[in-house]
Amino acid sequence: MSDFSMYHALGEGTPNPNSSNKQNELNPRPPIAAGPAGYQQAGSPAFGNTPQQYLHSPNQNTPPVQDPGYFPPQQSPSVYQNEHDINNLTNQMGTVGLGVDSASQPRPHKKKDRHAYHNIEGPGGSSQAFNGVPQAGTPSQFLDQASPQPGAQWQQAQITPAMNQFPAAAPMFSPANPATSAQHAARTGTPLGGTPVSSNQGRVDPEQIPSVPRSRDAVARYYLEHVYPTMENHHPPPALVPFVAYDQGNSSPRYARLTLNTIPSSADALATTALPLGLILQPLAPQQEGEQAIPVLDFGDTGPPRCRRCRAYINPFMSFRSGGNKFVCNMCSFPNDVPAEYFAPTDPSGVRVDRLQRPELTLGTVDFMVPKEYWSKEPVGLRWLFLIDVTAEAVNRGFLDDFCEGIINALYGGENDQSQDAENSQQRIPPGAKVGIVTYDKEMHFYNLSAGLDKAQMLVMSEIEDPFVPLSDGLFVDPEESKAVITSLLTQLQNMFSEVKNPEPALLATLNAALLALAPTGGKIVCSLSALPTWGPGRLFLRDDGNLHNTDAEKKLLTTEHPGYKKVATKMVESGIGIDFFMVAPSGGYLDIATIGHVSAITGGGVFYYPNFQSPRDALKLSKEIKHTVTRETGYQALMKVRCSNGLQVSAYHGNFYHHTFGADLEFGVIDADKAIGVMFSYDGKLDPKLDAHFQSALLYTTASGERRVRCNNLVASVSEGAAEAMKFVDQDAVVSIIAKEAAARMTEKSLKEIRGALTEKTVDILAGYRKNFTGNNPPGQLVLPENLKEFSMFILGLVKSRAFKGGKEPSDRRVHDARMIKSMGPLELSLYLYPRIIAIHQLDEKDGFANENGHLRMPESTRASFSKVEEGGVYIVDNGQICLLWLHAHVSPNLLEDLFGEGIKSLKQLDAFQSTLPVLETHLNAQVRNILQYLEGNRGSKALTIQLARQGLDGAEYEFARLLYEDRNNEAQSYVDWLVHVHRHIQLELAGQRKKEDTDGLGSMGSTFVGLRTPYWG
Ligand SMILES: [Zn+2]
Repeated sequence: MSDFSMYHALGEGTPNPNSSNKQNELNPRPPIAAGPAGYQQAGSPAFGNTPQQYLHSPNQNTPPVQDPGYFPPQQSPSVYQNEHDINNLTNQMGTVGLGVDSASQPRPHKKKDRHAYHNIEGPGGSSQAFNGVPQAGTPSQFLDQASPQPGAQWQQAQITPAMNQFPAAAPMFSPANPATSAQHAARTGTPLGGTPVSSNQGRVDPEQIPSVPRSRDAVARYYLEHVYPTMENHHPPPALVPFVAYDQGNSSPRYARLTLNTIPSSADALATTALPLGLILQPLAPQQEGEQAIPVLDFGDTGPPRCRRCRAYINPFMSFRSGGNKFVCNMCSFPNDVPAEYFAPTDPSGVRVDRLQRPELTLGTVDFMVPKEYWSKEPVGLRWLFLIDVTAEAVNRGFLDDFCEGIINALYGGENDQSQDAENSQQRIPPGAKVGIVTYDKEMHFYNLSAGLDKAQMLVMSEIEDPFVPLSDGLFVDPEESKAVITSLLTQLQNMFSEVKNPEPALLATLNAALLALAPTGGKIVCSLSALPTWGPGRLFLRDDGNLHNTDAEKKLLTTEHPGYKKVATKMVESGIGIDFFMVAPSGGYLDIATIGHVSAITGGGVFYYPNFQSPRDALKLSKEIKHTVTRETGYQALMKVRCSNGLQVSAYHGNFYHHTFGADLEFGVIDADKAIGVMFSYDGKLDPKLDAHFQSALLYTTASGERRVRCNNLVASVSEGAAEAMKFVDQDAVVSIIAKEAAARMTEKSLKEIRGALTEKTVDILAGYRKNFTGNNPPGQLVLPENLKEFSMFILGLVKSRAFKGGKEPSDRRVHDARMIKSMGPLELSLYLYPRIIAIHQLDEKDGFANENGHLRMPESTRASFSKVEEGGVYIVDNGQICLLWLHAHVSPNLLEDLFGEGIKSLKQLDAFQSTLPVLETHLNAQVRNILQYLEGNRGSKALTIQLARQGLDGAEYEFARLLYEDRNNEAQSYVDWLVHVHRHIQLELAGQRKKEDTDGLGSMGSTFVGLRTPYWG
């Protein structure tokens, strides 16, 4: 990549003041409301007054006490079901001052009220273990008699697909004055006083422990009606909360989140917080409807103005002096000469008179067009190369047909596009982009797709040791011009190969051929795979037989030493190529994702993994995800550089990219809207509290339509002498993201047990640091959590319970898949992955799921992820961003079933287990739920939303439901309450000077160096 790695040293010159950025569509600033008060945990329970349409009122309909009901005691697997253990827990909690007081605290009187109900680590199969499933035909007293009358209001259920969720389009902002540190100083932060989770006597109400759903819902309501001004309010909304950002010169949290928006002046001060100083960047993140498009600025042949010394790009925080003849760099303080072409005089206050006409001086996020010095090769429209597995397994399972249909849907919109998806079906790959198709089994088949042909011409390449590309013209074509040829080929592949049925794919040879085909231009590969590639060079074998799980040797299964795959990955990056895999294991078989997925991880791509692919159920998800891959914003041949103020330096990067040597730029074959990078900083001096700290990331990339650009994101943080002020501006999502990404990065070096230990240690370090240094008035035995890190412990527990890091056995394919995903996903997707969104749909308010008076969709509150919150007869949407379950209690009301699924559907058994969407019905409930699902689909990250049924007692997905109840004891880890008890005990020990690191096995004290505060890297 050396041929264009010089770009950061180039591009200096004189801009053309007559170029594009003359228009000024700036509007006055909108009224800014006060910050949300939504983080408070106190308040009424979520469902206090909701109508119980489908649910029995307990007073009327609960079964007699002696009735074993849904929760027969003899079937309880959890130890907490025993009085003995409850007492134990009470003692335990009492000891650490976080007790459930059996005297003053009403003890849960119903089994289902207790936490930790599930223990799902048992073998798969029957779900008898965690719930008594009634025999068929026992509807009896649990069923609701009253059903909503099919009156007028049920008929006029209005789906409003494109309901604008957000405040009226935020006008582009242009600060009349440059952003100043005074402006920072004036902004409001959360008061430092933390949140006591236990009473003065150390008692705790389990209902009062910080609730992730509440922390999201309250803020989401606020941002439904308010914009987020990026300078004035410097405490970003939680990552999962949709918001409209208003760029005031500081990048939107959508693109960049700092862990600390006020930074302590010294490493010592930071160390008192034990927090990492880091930045999460998602440079191509999708915008929210209502936000101003990112301007593309063209400075002609000279390129954008840059600092002569540190090469930082011009931005709103560079100041102009000497009447406008000099600009002073905000990173390195170097006074640069303003090029003649860029000159404008300054007014008496030192502000350029043309400032408001210059987006690069007013906005935190801009795109610069860049001239030839920034090119390594002539930029062209993105070339998409589809590599399609046509082996026997792909044919037999219907995966080949589904994949081809997905491509057609992505390129042209297809049958799967439902009416409510009409807006998306307008999306196409941009003009200038081209498409090619190669199929493979034991050999490769190239296709001439030229528009003039009657049908595609196949060229077989059986030379797999040393493949070459057998055609030059017609391999990549304009998909519109060749639509007939492409669709006809894709619809015939299933038939063509149903008679061949080679069982073994030669994957590495195919990747090498794809590399040759794309090397001249760069591009993006989308590759399907349905079986372990066991043929030809690079054939893989079953490495994971389960014997290494839970041992120190397990980490070998999570990485690859295969020279062939490593080589093709680095060569792809050098040529500006990246790859996404769509991998299915129809029989649950091993695919060696560690080795194959390495190619995605290094090239900036990703893996879409369907561990138990069932065509009828998963075809829609597959199709939507192929479409998402092809239509989301994608750049290729990318380089990234992060700069920061003097006194700080980059100490580490985490994400999916290629990093040649430390200090070099990050290299990406491709980068898309869903990918995020974690950047860690360390101090190389002391920061001046009178100044701000500045950060700038510059992503050089080629757009899918073939423009070479630099996307600049600028961030500013104020600097404080000590760390107390910094604690007010902690960004919980950024902290969790940085820690999660580092943990994922360590997976190939450290055992999973060590990583879990380190996560625990880090949690204790941060919370003990807060207790020690930043709280004064709370009784010593009280657990007090920092206001802006209240849910931090829960998110870390979610991480410990994730498939990547959980204890116990887990197939290495799933571990490594999830770990790489964590490394590359943005904060929104991660937040959902670490704590799912659960919505009870059996008790929706009549107005939920429809527009409110301001035209915004009214969302119901979400439910905590605990079985104790699950109600008899209830129906729940459970969405963790990867899958979306529809869980139905065994005794759900038949009326609800009919309203949701259609007339005549009165029992769970009548439902199709492979159903992946809801039918479109004229009932109020059906419309509500479809609207809610559509809202969720627009707010979750890289994966498509289809539903998967989890009927109590019937579907295997019920285990996934139980697994996702992260507040319960499951996934070989504690319940949320027990986890807080555990953390609190260690905080107490730390405060008493008696804490020992959790290294009972002599594993060392790596926890304290986690996230490299004391040393930038782990021992
Ligand atoms: Zn500079």
